[in-house]
Parts: sequence; C-alpha cells; structure tokens
Amino acid sequence: MNPEPVVAISAIEHFAYCPRQCALIHCDGVWSDNPHTVRGTRAHRRVDSGKHRTERGKRVLRGIPLWSESLGLTGRADVVEAKGEDIHPVEYKSGTRHGLAADLQLCAQALCLEEMLDVDVPCGSVWYGGPRRRVEVWFTASLRQQVKSIVAEIRDQLLTGRLPAAVNDGRCKECQLFHHCLPGPTSMSHRIERYMSEAVFGCDT
Ligand code: SF4
Repeated sequence: MNPEPVVAISAIEHFAYCPRQCALIHCDGVWSDNPHTVRGTRAHRRVDSGKHRTERGKRVLRGIPLWSESLGLTGRADVVEAKGEDIHPVEYKSGTRHGLAADLQLCAQALCLEEMLDVDVPCGSVWYGGPRRRVEVWFTASLRQQVKSIVAEIRDQLLTGRLPAAVNDGRCKECQLFHHCLPGPTSMSHRIERYMSEAVFGCDT
C-alpha cells in the first residue's frame, strides 16, 4: 500500500489557480460557494445526470471513476468518449478559461486513463459554458510534466500542512475563499513590509 497521501484530481485545478486556495480546501477542509462555484455545481449536475449513450458510433460515458497507482491520483471524468482504442476525456466548465488550470486537470485524467486502460490518450477537450465553446487540448510532454510537478507539490502540502502566502492579485476577487483567506494581510508583500517595519522601526504596523 502507498503510505503517501492520495491527491484528488480536482486539487490540480485549485493549485493551478492559486496554491493557497488548494491548501485551504484540501489540507484545511475550507469550502465556500460563490456564484462561479454554484454555476459549476449546476453544470456538473446536468452532466452527471445524463446516461451513457452512443453518439455517431462513439460511446459517451459519464461520471467515470479514475485513478493512477503510479501517481497516487484519484478523481472522476465528467465524460469519456470512446471508440475502439480512441479514448477522449471531456471536462465541463461553466465559465471561461483561466490559464492552464482546466488543461492540467484534463491531462491528469488522461494520465489515469492511460494507466487504467493501457492505451495512449493524446488529447481531450474542455467545454466552456461561458462562450459555449469546446476547446481541444493536446497532452504534450511539457503539460504532462507540469501535472506531475503539481501533484508532487500538492502531496507536499498534504504532508506538511504548509499554507502558502496569499497571491493578493486579480485572482482574489473571483475566488470562492476570498473571505476565509484575507489575501491582503496574508500576502507575502504585506508580511515583508511588516517585517521591515518591525526590524527598522521596532514597531507594529
Ligand atoms: S483569495 Fe487570493 S490568495 Fe486567497 S485563496 Fe483565493 S486566490 Fe488565493
């Protein structure tokens, strides 16, 4: 048995958005909904409530459990399209694209499918509900390596309970944990300013 903590695939997206958000959710068990997460939950409920079916010769499988023994990963795919050995995961997002976060999550799903089914999974797709667009994602060597590095960093968070400093930038106003996190007082720049002021002037800010 692997004594190291198993990493949830969803944590990869949280870490890619903000490492502090990932630690708050996955180490400290903090959760709070905002309009973005409520929309996301509704969208996933719609996907999850659908049945497996066949479309144009392809099997469309919903809510498929995923795992990777080698990476210590577990999670679920919204949809996996399968035609023979052609396996194509699809992730549903209610909003718009935020950097590589969804690509990394989807790539982690592909790594699990490759290990589970012993097939190559070269690409998948993300459906963005905001623009109502399906975007193809190719799982390059670099994207795969980024997933593995992030999984290692998340596992380190789980083992140490380390809470990173707040990023305190444009991500915070969209963040579901804004009121739990207090990004201003917990940011690195605030900590440095406070340290300098105590060291130089010997007083609190
Ligand atoms: S409020 Fe900002 S720093 Fe805090 S978890 Fe969210 S994105 Fe990260």
